[in-house]
Amino acid sequence: MPEHDLSAQESAAIGIICAIPDEIAQFGDAFQKEKSTSFGGFDFAEGLLEGKRCILVEAGMGKVNAAVVATILAQNFNCRSLLFSGVAGGLDPALGVGDVVIGKHLIQHDYGIINNEVTESYHPGHLPIFMPSERFGYHLDGALHTRIEQALKGFVLPELSAEASGGTARTPTLQFGTILTGDQFVNCTATRNRLHNELGGQAVEMEGAAVAQVAERFGVDWLVVRSLSDLAGEESGIDFIKFLHETAAGAAIVLRRLITVL
Ligand code: SAH
Repeated sequence: MPEHDLSAQESAAIGIICAIPDEIAQFGDAFQKEKSTSFGGFDFAEGLLEGKRCILVEAGMGKVNAAVVATILAQNFNCRSLLFSGVAGGLDPALGVGDVVIGKHLIQHDYGIINNEVTESYHPGHLPIFMPSERFGYHLDGALHTRIEQALKGFVLPELSAEASGGTARTPTLQFGTILTGDQFVNCTATRNRLHNELGGQAVEMEGAAVAQVAERFGVDWLVVRSLSDLAGEESGIDFIKFLHETAAGAAIVLRRLITVL
């Protein structure tokens, strides 16, 4: 993050982006809305969350929507950090529906090259054909990572119902991980396995790494928090609908806790 006047930095707002109504609804009354402005058909709601000045916006799904909204937050609202709170498909067999992943490494898995029907992901903007080795994906700021770890000491997520956890009620896990972003809803076990094995992803979604790319361009912090609504296999469409309401809460609960260190 570039050096700014500290007081100006503190007074600048934090941008919070969600893709779908169920994600934004999780902030409920905790977000005290003061006013809203419209740009490009998006509604930017300004107000307070946990005492911090925030701008909350529903971007719709996909990387382009996320990038447009992130750009407006950075350019028009001078936001000092860009956050994403929402749901994702789980890729790591160790994780279940309801678990929460904080993005430590964000990758746009659908940017790259296709050779002989095999997809290879590259860093966004890299010229395809020459293997880009020096840079791959977006890494969470080191100082922010440390502050997040401190803020989460002793923190426990609310218990998940037996239905959502697929057996007995349990406390969801919370971890840093690799989040993959692409313009597809992954509803395919073979793709889920490939993405996990080749890119080491814990979760897959459709917006996060686009927000990171814009944030990096504008020199502001970014943070992506995702709770797992499904496991990205053939059942993911059904799980998504069944568990969305319950699982969408996790990301917002974690983000509300973390906003104090942003
Ligand atoms: N099929 C759903 C709509 C897709 S949800 C329906 O019936 O309503 C896709 C949204 O949730 C995106 O914003 C994405 O970021 C996230 N998401 C959740 N699970 C996902 C998965 N398995 N693959 C990709 N994105 C997922």
